[in-house]
Amino acid sequence: MEAKGVKGPARKLARPNARERAAARREQAAAISELLARTYPDADCELDYRSAWELLVATILSAQCTDKMVNSVTPALFEEYPDPRALASADPARVEVLIKKTGFFRQKAKAILTCAHRVVDEFGGEVPDDFDALTTLPGVGRKTASVVIGTAFHRPAVFVDTHVKRLSKRLGLTRSDEPDDVERDLKDSLPDSVWTAFCHRMIHHGRRVCFARKPACDSCTLAPRCPRIGVESLGKSKR
Ligand code: SF4
Repeated sequence: MEAKGVKGPARKLARPNARERAAARREQAAAISELLARTYPDADCELDYRSAWELLVATILSAQCTDKMVNSVTPALFEEYPDPRALASADPARVEVLIKKTGFFRQKAKAILTCAHRVVDEFGGEVPDDFDALTTLPGVGRKTASVVIGTAFHRPAVFVDTHVKRLSKRLGLTRSDEPDDVERDLKDSLPDSVWTAFCHRMIHHGRRVCFARKPACDSCTLAPRCPRIGVESLGKSKR
């Protein structure tokens, strides 16, 4: 018998199950998507390009480099080599000079030249509008292929760069640091009609407000919905 005045064991709060967690994540993703759309209605790719080919090359060159720097070298590159056929017959040394400012220029020159050869030899000189075909090209991984599919071909795509990865974690849209997992979680949480715009807006926000080391939470339009996961420990680790 239970002694008078002594309460029974406290009832444990039920932990949300997988379905409830997924529903909560979808609700959070919808709210963040809405706030981002209001904040950056016109956010788009910040690389300059006039065709799928130019976007593909610019995206390869943007590895470990700012879009601004890439935009400073691509006009001369595309003037001298306006399409895959022209680039495929280019002198590698000349291409290296043209893209040198983007860093890792030897590897990047090799990647875009090999890419040009493959596009000419296997795809008739046209960038394939197909994710799997794109990822067979040198220097083209899931992120680059998704950027091209979503941005140049206007089909739904989720591209996880450093900003999308960081913000997705802070905003509670994923628990993972692995780009493939983040991509899966975002695809599971958002309708495909917003995937591409959502990623461009996240990148905008990461570049302008939610900085890696010192996020500007006080002036952030997402703050009312942001659990700021990992942000507090970021401050502590610097003390
Ligand atoms: S509130 Fe802070 S951590 Fe959250 S998205 Fe805004 S800047 Fe990033």
